[in-house]
Amino acid sequence: MKFTPAKPALTGETLESLTARLKERGEPAFRAKQILEWVYKKRARSWDDMTNLSKPLRAWLAETFDLLPLSLLFDKQSRDVTDKLLFELGDRSLIETVIIRAPQEGVGLDQSRKTICISPQVGCAMACKFCASGLAGLKRDLNAGEIVAQLLQVCYREDARTPRARMELASFDNIVVMGMGEPLANYDALIEALTILNAEWGLGFGARRITLSTSGLVPKILRLAEEPLGFRLAISLHGATDEVREKIMPVNKAFPLAKLIPAIRAFSEKHGRMVTLEFILIEDINDSLDQARALRDIARDLHAHVNLIPYNTVEGLPWKRPSNTRQEKFADILRHAPVSVTLRREKCHDIDAACGQLRLKTERDRADAA
Ligand code: SF4
Repeated sequence: MKFTPAKPALTGETLESLTARLKERGEPAFRAKQILEWVYKKRARSWDDMTNLSKPLRAWLAETFDLLPLSLLFDKQSRDVTDKLLFELGDRSLIETVIIRAPQEGVGLDQSRKTICISPQVGCAMACKFCASGLAGLKRDLNAGEIVAQLLQVCYREDARTPRARMELASFDNIVVMGMGEPLANYDALIEALTILNAEWGLGFGARRITLSTSGLVPKILRLAEEPLGFRLAISLHGATDEVREKIMPVNKAFPLAKLIPAIRAFSEKHGRMVTLEFILIEDINDSLDQARALRDIARDLHAHVNLIPYNTVEGLPWKRPSNTRQEKFADILRHAPVSVTLRREKCHDIDAACGQLRLKTERDRADAA
């Protein structure tokens, strides 16, 4: 389903498209750069902040565009390393954006490295059995402006906390597209948004610091391999054989491992980069030592890094996290291969299924209040 907002978002405009709109109004070409500089470099929060533009031009901008197409509903700070922001879009849809801090010795949490996990869709059609975000299916794709705006909102928030951020333009270190939705199912809008973030007139954010995570849409992986911007790729594998993967990821029927693995290989050969295999460990589903051995073989063959993520319980779903002993035994098989492996405790929703629950809870509260 598509959502057509009353006004397009300025955060969805490129330098070229904005220049063309301004030209129709008889404005000189340099105006577009000036306006985008206000948005991305000077972090203008209102049209009136753009003080070197004439009043009539500011009025036209306000009539023509939304400065930001989403508003912050909740800012949920956790006591650990993960903060969650809940945004409301123009059609009242809700999305979560997550800030994950990597604690560094001698550095306060606010100053530590930050990875921002953004959402590319409202809901998700992929129906992975362990995931809160897929429970109600796909509502709609986000447009490029909504995707970019999640990161600008994070910049506003982090700028207020750390002076370092202002100087480096982007107030974070990495972007992972692992929030709600299947990124490659909203391919065009996502690439448009990431191109805006990467542009010198945008946030100037390096493509090598952006990771796209997919449940395994093979044709789109092959298309991504041809993109000139060299993004990083993570695969939500979660099953090392078709039999196990199919139980929890319906996408495996259309794209079984015999198709998925060659596509991953093609991507990493094209970009010369290590791909990451995400693997949520779920008790008695995919945590057997046979699965560990099969995963080891796949990872070794692809020279891939493996992220093991013990499952986080989702209300209403029956799955459980394996014991710590089981997790370690599983990881040991990979470590001894040797395969590059991390046993993680915290990350975004399709690696940390507990994400997406702030949105679900808010939607339930709204339904109860109606
Ligand atoms: S894990 Fe990712 S791809 Fe699967 S249903 Fe959830 S959001 Fe969609």
